[in-house]
Amino acid sequence: MDGNVSSTSVFDSERPGAEEPFLRPENSDPRPHVAACPLFEVIGLTKRYGDQFALAQVSFAAGRGEIVGLIGPNGAGKTTLLETIAGLLPADSGEVRWEGTSLPPARRRDAMFYLPDGIRPYQEQPVARVLSFMAGVYGKGSRETADAVEAVALAPVLAKRVRELSKGYARRLLLALGLIAPQALLLMDEPFDGFDLRQTQAIARVLRQRAGARRTMILAIHQLTDAERVCDRFVLLAEGRIRGAGTLAELRARIGRASASLEEIFLALT
Ligand code: ATP
Repeated sequence: MDGNVSSTSVFDSERPGAEEPFLRPENSDPRPHVAACPLFEVIGLTKRYGDQFALAQVSFAAGRGEIVGLIGPNGAGKTTLLETIAGLLPADSGEVRWEGTSLPPARRRDAMFYLPDGIRPYQEQPVARVLSFMAGVYGKGSRETADAVEAVALAPVLAKRVRELSKGYARRLLLALGLIAPQALLLMDEPFDGFDLRQTQAIARVLRQRAGARRTMILAIHQLTDAERVCDRFVLLAEGRIRGAGTLAELRARIGRASASLEEIFLALT
C-alpha cells in the first residue's frame, strides 16, 4: 500500500502558522561550496527562460561518496538544475567538472545516471523484463538485479506491467534501475515522493548503504525532514539562487544556532 509522505514541510504554504519564507529579504550566498576533494563540481550554472532566471550562477560541489540534497520549494530550480547537470537541458553559461576537468554534456551520461521525477519507462513491459533489460545493457548479472529487487522490496510486482504499478512501486522500480546502473553519480528527482514515513525511512537506509566510494548521489528533495534523514550535505535553493550550502553543522554555524533544524536554517537563509 502506498501513502503520501506524511511529514510537513516549510514549503507547505497551508501549514498552520507557516511564515512567508520567500518574502524575506534576499540573503544569497555567492560563495561556491566546495567539498575537500570534489568528485563533481558545478560552476556558475545559469539558465534563463525569457527574462526569468531558473538558475542564476549556481555553484556547488560533491565529494566522492557523498549524498548531496538539492533543497527548495516548488519552482526553486531543482529539476532545472538536475536536467542541466545531466546534459538534457542546455545551460546559458556555466560548467560541470569531473575530478577537476570540464565534462561536456555529451560525455555526462558516462559519468552520471539521471532518474527524473514521475517517469515510467517501458510501460507495457513486465517489471522483471525491464530490470533484466537494464542489467543486460550494463553487463550486470542476475545477482545485481536480485540485490536491487531486494533492496527496494520490488518482489511483489515483478510480473506486473509498468503501467499497472502504483506510484510508490513505480518509484521503487526507478530506484532499482538506479541501483543497477553503474555510473558513479546518481541524480534523482524526489526519491521519496509516493512513500509514507516508514517506507521513506527504509529507502533512505538503502540510499545510505549504497552511497560510498563507488556511488555519489545528488537528490532533489522537497521535504526537509526527508532531506535531513539521508543527505550529508545540502544545497539550499530559492528562485534559482543558492541561499546556503554545506553540512548541517556548517549551516548551523552559519546562522549561529547549534541545534537548528534544516527547516529553521532554510527560514533563516531565505
Ligand atoms: P518543483 O519542486 O515544483 O518540481 P523545481 O524546484 O524543480 O520545482 P523547476 O521545475 O526547475 O523547479 O522550475 C524552476 C523555474 O523555471 C520555475 O519558475 C519554472 O516555472 C521555470 N521553468 C521550468 N521549465 C520551464 C520551461 N520549459 N519554460 C519556462 N519556464 C520554465
